[in-house]
Amino acid sequence: EALRSGRLVVFPTETVYGLGANALDATAVMGIYAAKGRPVRNPLIVHVHNADAARQIVTMWPAAAERLAKTFWPGPLSLVLPKSDAIPDVVTGGGPTVALRCPAHRVALKLIEMADVPVAAPSANPSGYVSPTRVEHLAENIKRAAAYVVDAGLCPGGIESTVLDLTEDPPRVLRPGLL
Ligand code: AMP
Ligand code: MG
Repeated sequence: EALRSGRLVVFPTETVYGLGANALDATAVMGIYAAKGRPVRNPLIVHVHNADAARQIVTMWPAAAERLAKTFWPGPLSLVLPKSDAIPDVVTGGGPTVALRCPAHRVALKLIEMADVPVAAPSANPSGYVSPTRVEHLAENIKRAAAYVVDAGLCPGGIESTVLDLTEDPPRVLRPGLL
């Protein structure tokens, strides 16, 4: 309910803790940038609970996306695809593409499924600081910005997701990560 109504929620994934907001709500997403002190040109990854939900917020779902999602989702792989109009520009740093992933953490999956909206979430640290793998590591201003912090102990991965751009041929790894 908090996510749906535009508030921020810290939640665990298999990589690190994320600071999440309803990805369809530009005002909510702006709160993420404000809380992190993140440059607004640095796009966010949108988290979904399955490939069907991903398909609904892109304008193209190529065969490669289908195969990669079938093979690696849920998991630490973010796929960059052309965004649909449902995703506000603030999520994507003003660009025409959106990074999507389905996290392999049962708490994250349940939260996103219950919220019933895609969840934009960068790591839950102030910009330029180390990503938190435990709620004990959360900065005070991040905790203040969040309506809720969902504590599931240690995030097992500790390293961010791999980002793969599928809008180029051949696809290009933009960020090596946990995968
Ligand atoms: P963070 O959320 O802090 O783990 O950072 C997200 C990473 O994904 C950054 O390296 C972004 O540059 C990258 N990213 C997110 N969305 C896109 C996109 N649409 N195109 C290219 N890279 C992206
Ligand atoms: Mg980060």
